[in-house]
Amino acid sequence: MTKHAAIVGAGIMGLLTARELLSLGWRVTVYEKYPEMEYRNSTSFAAGGMLAPFSELESADELIFKLGMSSIELWREICEELPAPVFFKTNGSLFLSHQRDKPHFENATRRIFHHVKESEAQWVKVSDLEPELGETFDQGLYLPREGHIDNRQLIPLLASKLEAEGVRILFGEIVQDLRPYVVETAKGSLLYDIVVDCRGIGAVEDTADLRGVRGEAFLIHAPEVSIQRPVRLMHPRYAVYIVPRANDHYYIGATSIESASESPVTIRSSLELLSAAYSVHKGFGEASIVEILHGIRPAFRNNAPKISFEAGLVSINGLYRHGFLLSPVLARAFKNFLQDHPVDHADQIFSFTRG
Ligand SMILES: Cc1cc2nc3c(=O)[nH]c(=O)nc-3n(C[C@H](O)[C@H](O)[C@H](O)COP(=O)(O)OP(=O)(O)OC[C@H]3O[C@@H](n4cnc5c(N)ncnc54)[C@H](O)[C@@H]3O)c2cc1C
Repeated sequence: MTKHAAIVGAGIMGLLTARELLSLGWRVTVYEKYPEMEYRNSTSFAAGGMLAPFSELESADELIFKLGMSSIELWREICEELPAPVFFKTNGSLFLSHQRDKPHFENATRRIFHHVKESEAQWVKVSDLEPELGETFDQGLYLPREGHIDNRQLIPLLASKLEAEGVRILFGEIVQDLRPYVVETAKGSLLYDIVVDCRGIGAVEDTADLRGVRGEAFLIHAPEVSIQRPVRLMHPRYAVYIVPRANDHYYIGATSIESASESPVTIRSSLELLSAAYSVHKGFGEASIVEILHGIRPAFRNNAPKISFEAGLVSINGLYRHGFLLSPVLARAFKNFLQDHPVDHADQIFSFTRG
């Protein structure tokens, strides 16, 4: 008989898990607390969509790097299946610094070079790669294998593709309780062969050690700027990214604040992010703000993801600032595990409660 899975949460982790279960022939029902009109409030929509395993070596450990490298390949596969093209680029990124932040920059680049080969991180003359930035920056670190994806374009396409293939996504269905084999909503309890908890920070009350790390960002329209690849600007507190999107749009983010507050974006964060962008290219001064975004990243104490198993219940959480970098490989690892195939890095991402 066909097995039936319930996935709780239609963020990027829930959707990619649904995709893998579907490929195994499972029936899949996804519960999402937001009604479809408000779905863009979920954290996955606030992300910058950076696929930046090399840059992340500055603060993350090698596990994130290895998992991230495998994910970039999987994103190619995922994008090819979608019913319409998605803005997905793998033309690398540029890591830059103003003079005043040079000591932080030297430390950060030293950590990157500690882990990677010279061909994977190259010092370049900025004007050769990004002519409009050459006046402000002389030299930068080019990371040719990094990528980025427009998550706000991707998620609705992925959700509708999954629905067309038979996945039921129940928008506006708040799961009040979940336990092995059982999902409870206001309408009652339903039994499944497995329940997969992909609630992100929504699982904070019943997940030991999970915490929220707030991130804020801006989506802007800047017709006077032409930058081809994401720029990461050295900032003493945050990883500030300027990420090109289609039609002269840019994503400017993101703050990183130890808080799960859902309050609106502060003046301080706005000043920091927008001044950083303006300091990179004066053309951002004439840009218009399209949307102000915030989200709560789900993180464990070590900022690494975890897949926790017990019979009838699996939780995939703690994606922190690497939701797009890691979700394809975590969903694939989960699928391989269900098929009894060996999984790389299993000891580091899997935890078993019983059974
Ligand atoms: C500003 C910002 C920038 C970021 N930039 C990047 C980046 O460039 N690259 C990158 O890789 N990552 C980035 N991230 C991190 C990334 O967004 C997260 O890691 C990712 O969204 C986590 O995905 P998730 O599916 O686990 O959780 P979520 O996206 O939070 O999804 C969980 C879903 O579960 C639903 N839910 C919760 N509780 C319930 C319930 N009781 N019943 C039903 N549904 C429920 C929620 O509504 C939500 O839709 C960024 C994050 C932020 C905030």
